[in-house]
Amino acid sequence: MNDNTIYALIFLLVLIVVFKIIGKSCKHRYYKKKIIQESSETPLHKSNDSVPFSHFAYEPKKYFFSSNEYFFYKELERKLPTQYIIFPKVRVGDIVNVRSIVEYDRAALSKVTSKHFDFLIMSKDFLTLILIVELDDKSHDINSATINRDEFINDLINSKPMYSKLEIIRVRCKKTTNGFDYTEAVNSVLEKLKSCSIEAICPLCHSKLEIKTGPYGEFWGCPNYYSKTNPCDFTHNYTEDN
Ligand SMILES: [Zn+2]
Repeated sequence: MNDNTIYALIFLLVLIVVFKIIGKSCKHRYYKKKIIQESSETPLHKSNDSVPFSHFAYEPKKYFFSSNEYFFYKELERKLPTQYIIFPKVRVGDIVNVRSIVEYDRAALSKVTSKHFDFLIMSKDFLTLILIVELDDKSHDINSATINRDEFINDLINSKPMYSKLEIIRVRCKKTTNGFDYTEAVNSVLEKLKSCSIEAICPLCHSKLEIKTGPYGEFWGCPNYYSKTNPCDFTHNYTEDN
């Protein structure tokens, strides 16, 4: 094999490598463009099915809670009266609907599906929402994205027909020389809860439950028990707490 043949082979190899790299980069750019394009055209409930899974980059998050969220949660859980239960990190879109198909419905949907509440306090018996708890920190004063998010949540809570349906409290942990103190924040939540009423709503058909009397005393019963179109036999023990 003479020198010219070796040079030709090396040139050919380099050419193949260059073409492979260019091909890969073009493919990557094509799918990236497709993801962006389909994301803006496809309704949120549909997925970008034509894009191979390998082009989405996912990895597990290291933490579910920040340390403040964790310690606040543990303290709140410890002091919370037994008729309540805490649901952490619930998407805003899980408790809010976009009312109608209007010009900005997609933007409206995107805003509530990409944000979450820190904690929801629900009634343990009926799983109805009682209070939204937002645990704010310094970033809520300086980070513009966080400030915008807070403003959106406040507007949402105060907007019709949300007004009077959703109760919210914003609390902050106190920084002390020994670290953070959660007592004051938790006590504020417990105090606020005293003014919130638990609506006895049937978790199966969402009708307002009634106190009924049976052979063993009073109990919560669903008004649809005798309904022919939508019968519902949900019952629950009646106590002073619920
Ligand atoms: Zn029911």
